[in-house]
Amino acid sequence: MKVTKFGGTSLASSSQLRKVKEIVYQDANRHIVVASAPGKRNDEDIKITDLLLALNTKRNDEKIKEEIISRFKEIIFDLKVDQNIFQEVSDYFTNIDEFASSSEIVSRGEYFCAKILAFHLQFKFIDAKDFLFFDSNGKIDFEESKRAFFKLYKNGDYAVIPGFYGSDEKGDICLFSRGGSDITGAYIASFVSASCYENWTDVSGIFSVNPSIVHNPSKISSISYDEIRELSYMGANVIHSDSILPCQERNIPIYIKNTNKPEDKGTLISSYSSNNMITGIAGKSGYLSMTLSKRDIHSDVNSLFKVLRILSEYDVQGESIASGIDCLSLTFLEKNIISSLNEITFKLSHLLDAKVEVRNNLSLVSIVSKNKKDRYQIITKIFEILKNNQIKTRLVDHLNDDYSIIIGVDDTCLNNTISSLYNGFNNMRLI
Ligand code: ASP
Repeated sequence: MKVTKFGGTSLASSSQLRKVKEIVYQDANRHIVVASAPGKRNDEDIKITDLLLALNTKRNDEKIKEEIISRFKEIIFDLKVDQNIFQEVSDYFTNIDEFASSSEIVSRGEYFCAKILAFHLQFKFIDAKDFLFFDSNGKIDFEESKRAFFKLYKNGDYAVIPGFYGSDEKGDICLFSRGGSDITGAYIASFVSASCYENWTDVSGIFSVNPSIVHNPSKISSISYDEIRELSYMGANVIHSDSILPCQERNIPIYIKNTNKPEDKGTLISSYSSNNMITGIAGKSGYLSMTLSKRDIHSDVNSLFKVLRILSEYDVQGESIASGIDCLSLTFLEKNIISSLNEITFKLSHLLDAKVEVRNNLSLVSIVSKNKKDRYQIITKIFEILKNNQIKTRLVDHLNDDYSIIIGVDDTCLNNTISSLYNGFNNMRLI
């Protein structure tokens, strides 16, 4: 049995839903379909989820309501979907409940889209709120959710399920982070031990590098779970990084496919890596580095413990930590630390009696490769490329057993670093 998830652009209009039907009907193993909310039909369009976020802050804004209703209306009328569903959409947004939670409002894109798609495909509709349970830490309660799922889903059923949300212990709607329908699909694939999890989107697979930085980059035909988690964490946004583990744990292959070009091969994510020396490169800005300097800081075995204790007091997670004889260096995602940065630096400088220096505008670039055999050659090549392109590094982070080599550069150098590395590795079978 296959679990098949369609992203927002695949569900953006009635003509896209027709393509979806064709794809689903082509293979009788496609038993479970997971739906996102309608996305953009063109560059000027606004995603339904973004309209819902706007509506949540301006609940009486008639213009936003009308826009949302008309987007659904186009799809419902054109596909001759049951008028009761249109009535439900129209009633919900016209008389929006002032006590409705923001999560409920934002989830309605997926909810109504899945209802429409279920009718269009003549599949059963199952609401994710009735089985996908978040615990008090915001994590999915796997066993309880699986049990509840099989009360609603019987073997052999054909069903459509809305992505992006579930419910908490009180039964209130809870959302995953943006792009979270991928995660819904991954959990369901895991519940049913799917033969594969298909993720249909608007590109024919994962690029080895961001196409807005490098023109027409190569596509990755095969990538391992570990590598794609690293790439998506570092900004490659074809699939949500949290959707990989549920499939990886049960060895369920994930296919990234293009709804507009279903014949294209796409990308396979599995335990196997590509044969390339490097699988992909991704990077993002928004980091800062903090250096704690003090003579012989290394000899104080408690110094690292003190740092971590203060960070945990403020619930701040570091991205990486490196230590030398006279300094400790930490990297943070700026948005995770900025609100408590002053207090943390103050406390650290007092507690460790150290000089604390914070530098912003840091970008990290991850060169991802499972290839251990050529590791030294890869590292040598990276530095050669950086030198030839006069790119100064602010940090280098590489653990021997890891599948990525991270380099830190100034924000202004981010795109140049990525494109230089991509071009530099071309003749080493990056493509
Ligand atoms: N509709 C949500 C978003 O735009 C979730 C998703 O598409 O997966 O982020």
